[in-house]
Amino acid sequence: MANVLENAISLVQKTADILNFNKRFQGQEIMERLRIPDKVIMFRASVQLDRGGLKVFNCYRIQHSDVLGCYKGGIRFHPDVDLDEVKALALWMTLKTALVGIPYGGAKGGITVDPKTLSITELERLVRKYTSRLVNDIGPNIDIPAPDMGTGAREMAWIYDEYRKYRDVARGVVTGKPIALGGSLGRKEATGRGVVCTMLEAVKDLGLKNYTVGVQGFGNVGSHAALDCFERGLKVVAIQDITGGACNPEGLNVPEMVKYRDQTGGIEGFPGGKPLADNIVSYPCDVFLPCAKENTITEENAANVKAKLIVEGANGPTTPEADKILESRKVVVVPDILANAGGVIVSYFEWVQNREGFYWEEEDVNTRLFNRLRKAYASVKEMAVAKKVSLRQAAYCIALEKIVQAMIARGVQ
Ligand code: NAD
Repeated sequence: MANVLENAISLVQKTADILNFNKRFQGQEIMERLRIPDKVIMFRASVQLDRGGLKVFNCYRIQHSDVLGCYKGGIRFHPDVDLDEVKALALWMTLKTALVGIPYGGAKGGITVDPKTLSITELERLVRKYTSRLVNDIGPNIDIPAPDMGTGAREMAWIYDEYRKYRDVARGVVTGKPIALGGSLGRKEATGRGVVCTMLEAVKDLGLKNYTVGVQGFGNVGSHAALDCFERGLKVVAIQDITGGACNPEGLNVPEMVKYRDQTGGIEGFPGGKPLADNIVSYPCDVFLPCAKENTITEENAANVKAKLIVEGANGPTTPEADKILESRKVVVVPDILANAGGVIVSYFEWVQNREGFYWEEEDVNTRLFNRLRKAYASVKEMAVAKKVSLRQAAYCIALEKIVQAMIARGVQ
């Protein structure tokens, strides 16, 4: 299996060929400019441990492209974080912001760390160290971080507080902040709600009725997507996280599962369902929402998928080999750059509210979020039908055409 960066670049290359960039923009080095990020920032950060001694961490911030606006992208804390993963995530951010039409480019950050192994004070020191090292590279008009796996409002608050030690008070330097520090209502739930919004559009297209849902990942994205499904009266029949899984053909009580996870740290042993013996990818459900990590649906397990529809809450959960198998089996996939764009859309709303100093009601946030996502879904669907390609390929075509048009318009001097 190729790594995530190679997978991401090969699809960009394929799209560039479909759109005939080589011929249309001869000599403009389009592929070279898309393949290589604008700036790669890597450093080591030493953090003092509570018990004494130091631990050293690998830190990254990749600024992929600012062709359509300042750099924007989350920060991931996970033991598997490496340079290629962060580069791939940054490239996907450039495509995502272009696709949904918000005035940003793409970036991503990460630290190779399992945050569960650090105390809160150690984590705070690490986040502050990371921020202080990036103080010249981030800013509300330069590069705006946000949460991703392993980070949330708490870490964004520390970034905001550390940044203001060096620069003017600028709430818009980071999004996904706590409400008390200028965060937006509905930001925490936005990615999961967006996944469900695009799922509902695809369900309509497919004509699914009385369908069941399975969810992988029960963190920010997965739990809010599952809660949204539950609140809409849909049956969520299986959920899996890193600790284990639970299933119930009558539907799981998702709010109870959230309480259980908050008390125990995971969903393993949840009393409201049977333990999930196998990988959730092959569990019988009509709609599957992978909301955990990359490379979940692979060449090895794609043939076992029972779902008719997959909506990618996570970034890069389906490998290109698996994509081919799913396509041949007529399983529809709503791609990550569309399905999980709700987070960055509401991050944009947060940034706008911070600039205006005027804060919106949650209902306004949600209405604007759903309008943007439905519009983006409709354009992707239209392109897919017109070009007879998958939704993923159509989404890449739309995003890359916008990016390249802007690149050319900006000139080369
Ligand atoms: P999170 O850290 O809040 O939660 C991750 C969840 O995945 C946890 O429940 C964890 O137990 C589970 N998990 C990890 N490895 C697993 C495995 N091997 N099998 C089953 N479950 C596993 O992270 P998140 O913010 O919810 O992000 C999840 C995905 O969504 C990532 O791909 C991220 O890039 C993407 N995403 C997040 C946002 C956001 O706003 N947070 C926005 C867009 C995309």
